[in-house]
Amino acid sequence: MVVIRGATTIPCDTKEEIRRAVSELLEQIESRNSLKREEVVSLVFSSTSDIHSYYPAKAAREAGFVSCSLFSAQEPDIDGGLPLCIRCMLFVEKNIMPSHVYLRGARGLRRDLSGKLNIAIDGPAGSGKSTVARRLAEDLHILYLDTGAMYRACALKVLEEGLDPNDEAAIVALMRDVKLDVVYEGGVQRTLLDGRDVSAEIRTNEVSMASSTVSKHASVRLHLVEKQREIAGRMSCVLDGRDIGTFVLPDADFKFFLTASPDVRARRRYDELTAKGMQVNFERLKEEIIRRDEQDMTRALAPLRQAEDAVLIDTSDMTIEEVVQAVKRAMQEKI
Ligand code: C5P
Repeated sequence: MVVIRGATTIPCDTKEEIRRAVSELLEQIESRNSLKREEVVSLVFSSTSDIHSYYPAKAAREAGFVSCSLFSAQEPDIDGGLPLCIRCMLFVEKNIMPSHVYLRGARGLRRDLSGKLNIAIDGPAGSGKSTVARRLAEDLHILYLDTGAMYRACALKVLEEGLDPNDEAAIVALMRDVKLDVVYEGGVQRTLLDGRDVSAEIRTNEVSMASSTVSKHASVRLHLVEKQREIAGRMSCVLDGRDIGTFVLPDADFKFFLTASPDVRARRRYDELTAKGMQVNFERLKEEIIRRDEQDMTRALAPLRQAEDAVLIDTSDMTIEEVVQAVKRAMQEKI
């Protein structure tokens, strides 16, 4: 038995809005979890105390949930709770990794009641980890933390200041005066340097190479790892990087290590950069990727390496969708 959660909000407390919201929420839950009606054993609703016009359970019956047991309850007022919010739990006879559904600004009622989940995805450049991590975070409705973006932002600042990426002392002094933040807008991570959005600028080839050099320095790593642990300690998230499973979160709930042949990885990066209108030479890009891997694998602190308890996936001949499904299957097997 699996429990799928969902929530939505309504603009005003009317029978029509409640019926529309319940039917939309259930439709989304069904389609995102590929559910069949007969797999739903039981459906429990709760609504905030400002909703009186109709029972969500009745709306579910009318939406076609005829054979499962149904129940509606009213929540007490909770500090910081959303107004006009309907929540539900579906008890489902199906062996799946549930995709919880939050619509129209709704979110979990109380963070402290929802279990925290940290998923670590490590691997070399172009192994597909960021695309997979983003997709997984979207499907599970949790945060995606791109740790590489932090090293990239640091490298961008080093280049802008004309510093040598090998000069650890100068970089540490620089980082002391720089405010590096990651913020989320509409679920998308934005990387800010002293308040300036550098999310696009950090994606150039020059920054890629410099970030690998900058990330060799223990003091730079420890500074950024502290931030990463702080975010992961507060909320559920998928983190992608090089050292998440081995160093940042050795106790992560799930660990994956993605890899692919250098040719495939270089091709993916090439397609990504040229799609953004950048001029790149394929052979040079491939050489740089190999050089970056080498540098990442041989540094003293927290090198790129597969954690012993990580699931290894070679993505060379797989589509993103296939990798996401393989990750979900492996998570399901571990639960
Ligand atoms: O993943 P991405 O290509 O954006 O990472 C850029 C560089 O940042 C990597 O080559 C690596 O040197 C460094 N990095 C790291 N540890 C992480 C994430 C990235 O050392 N957790």
